[in-house]
Amino acid sequence: MKIHCSCGAIILDQTDYLSCKAHIIGDKTYFDFLNAIDEAIESKDEDRETLCMRVRRAETSRLAWECNTCGSLYLSDGNGDLVEYRPVNGKANRVFDRPRSKVSE
Ligand SMILES: [Zn+2]
Repeated sequence: MKIHCSCGAIILDQTDYLSCKAHIIGDKTYFDFLNAIDEAIESKDEDRETLCMRVRRAETSRLAWECNTCGSLYLSDGNGDLVEYRPVNGKANRVFDRPRSKVSE
């Protein structure tokens, strides 16, 4: 996928683990998603693959990308279109590029 930013740059989305891409979950659906995870963990069902697929289907995020040149954010609107938001400071703020957290043992 290529997004042509209004600044002229191109945002490429051709692999996983992109530092300029995010999966955004609204607050109303975030707790439903956590409940689906809890339900899968607490289930007595032996079919772990089915449980994992149930959690993946419950994840209702939308995608977002940040332009590395001007910092504009492009959010999918759920209808196949992108909505652009521009940062007031006019620069790339790398808002989605956070260090990967380690799961504590
Ligand atoms: Zn841009």
